[in-house]
Formats: sequence, C-alpha cells, structure tokens
Amino acid sequence: MVCKCGKKTYFRREYEGTELCEKCFVRSIEKKVKKNIRINNLISKNDKICVAISGGKDSTACLYILNEIIKKRKDMKIFAIAIDEGTGDYRKKTIEKAREVCEIMKVPLKIYSFEEEFGKSLPEIIKDEKINACTYCGVLRRYLLNKKARENKATKLAFGFNLNDEAESVLLNFVFGNLDKFLRLGAKVENKKIKKFIPRIKPLREIPEEEVFAYCDALGLPYYKEKKCPFGKKSVRKTIRKYLYDLEEKYPGTLFQIVKFADLLIPSLKKGFYKKGKIKYCKICGEPSSRDICKFCELLKNK
Ligand code: SF4
Ligand code: ZN
Ligand code: ZN
Repeated sequence: MVCKCGKKTYFRREYEGTELCEKCFVRSIEKKVKKNIRINNLISKNDKICVAISGGKDSTACLYILNEIIKKRKDMKIFAIAIDEGTGDYRKKTIEKAREVCEIMKVPLKIYSFEEEFGKSLPEIIKDEKINACTYCGVLRRYLLNKKARENKATKLAFGFNLNDEAESVLLNFVFGNLDKFLRLGAKVENKKIKKFIPRIKPLREIPEEEVFAYCDALGLPYYKEKKCPFGKKSVRKTIRKYLYDLEEKYPGTLFQIVKFADLLIPSLKKGFYKKGKIKYCKICGEPSSRDICKFCELLKNK
C-alpha cells in the first residue's frame, strides 16, 4: 500500500488502518496538535509560554510545534526551562541536547538545578532510602518548574506528554485510587483562583509515542536517544507502560479509548460527585497545595 497521495509509505497507523508518506504524516501530526490547541484553548493572545524541556523527543517535538506557531505571532513569547536533578551523566547529556535544540530553534533556555535550588541533588536527597526516586523527583521537578515559570512571568507551562503518558497516568491513578490526581488530568490543567499556579498544557496529548519518534525523525529534530534515567528502573509507571504497550499491540486504539474514557468521566465526576477541596497555600513555602503542608515540603522536611 501507499499513501493516499500516491507517495511511498513512511508510517502505518494501525489504529486507523492508514498509510502515510513522510509529508502527509508530518502534516497530520501538526493538524492534530493544532486541533487540540484550538479545541481546548491551550494558548491564547498575549501568552508567554514556558516549555519544560528535557532533551528527549516529546519535549523537543512540543517545543518545535509551539515555536512554529508562536514565532509568527507578535503578541506571544516562548522560552524553555530544563531541570537538572543531578542524576549524573544521563542528565548532563540530555541537557546538552536541550541546549542544542533551543539553539537551533532560537528559543531562550533557562537551566535550574536541584543542587542550587534545594542544596542537594536527587541522589543525595534519596540517599540510603528504599523509596522510589521518581516520587521525589516528580514532586520536586513540578514544584521547581511552576515556581521558575512564574518567576519568569510565564502564563502557560507546556509539557511534552504524549498519548501513552496520559493513558499511563489514567491507569496509575486508578491503581492507586487517587481521585484527586485523576481529576487533574486533561489537555489543560488550570485553576484561576490559585494565582501562583501556572496553567499546564499538553499539546501532544493525542499523539502516540511512536508517532512522536517518527515526527522528530522525519523533520531531523535532534533528541536524546541513548540510555534512560538510571533511577527510573523500579517505577510503577514503567510496569504500566509495558502493559499498555502489549495491550495496544494486540488491540490498536486502546490508548485512545482509555484517555477518551477518562475525558468522558472527569467532567461528570467534577460536577456531580466530587466536592472541590479548599484552595490552600503551603504553610511552609507558600506554594499552592491541596493540604496545609505541600508534598514538596513534606518530602524535604527531614532531609
Ligand atoms: Fe526523575 Fe524518575 Fe524521571 Fe529519573 S525516571 S528523571 S528519577 S522521574
Ligand atoms: Zn502522502
Ligand atoms: Zn511547601
């Protein structure tokens, strides 16, 4: 089979049963992302977008597509933030890639490290503890990204989460019975009443992971391809990721169905059954939190 335009197939979409040449594939990804941006109102007039960049394929594709839109607009700005958790060689290399990507796209990049901001790197924080490194890493990274995006006057914080990531998050919250976090899923997470919280957007949320790889490769975008983070080996997310890969392979379209189901469920749950918690600010650090002491301060209190 060939693409509907007659050119050689570059990518086959199992869940659609379609074949696409390189040009049609790239165009279709950008069309889907732009549709997501439009329907969910992810960016708007006078926005200053901060893209969380890791040097991997997802944040690279996210930055590229957003930058292509924003550079044509006089009223919008874009910049990127990379976080260095201090996870050694792995992070050094990914940050080098992020630097390269930002230079090519002429997007300003700011780098912040755990070491400078918290006085300790991730390996020093988790030292001797059996606790999963990703639990600390995720909380600390999100905290720092929100704070630094705000200090740099960003109006939106963009993440390169793809369809697989979102489907993983849906299942992960089911597995842990975390309704609060489940209700915070979606293409855009915002709370206008919490001034310190920068709305988060996920432009690639409907793009499967393998299509993000194929998109970057088609455009020749540089991204970090080598080893994974050495601290992420035991995460539950990894187990769920593998399970979803198998499921998607056997039943193409599963990832879409999981995310679609969550999207159908969340609005009714928010309206009908779930009482919103009071808006609070952490008593220690003053950052937005659903509890008196935020997760960040709780994790770091005895460190
Ligand atoms: Fe942090 Fe875990 Fe990701 Fe490594 S795998 S960067 S420890 S969240
Ligand atoms: Zn084509
Ligand atoms: Zn706090």
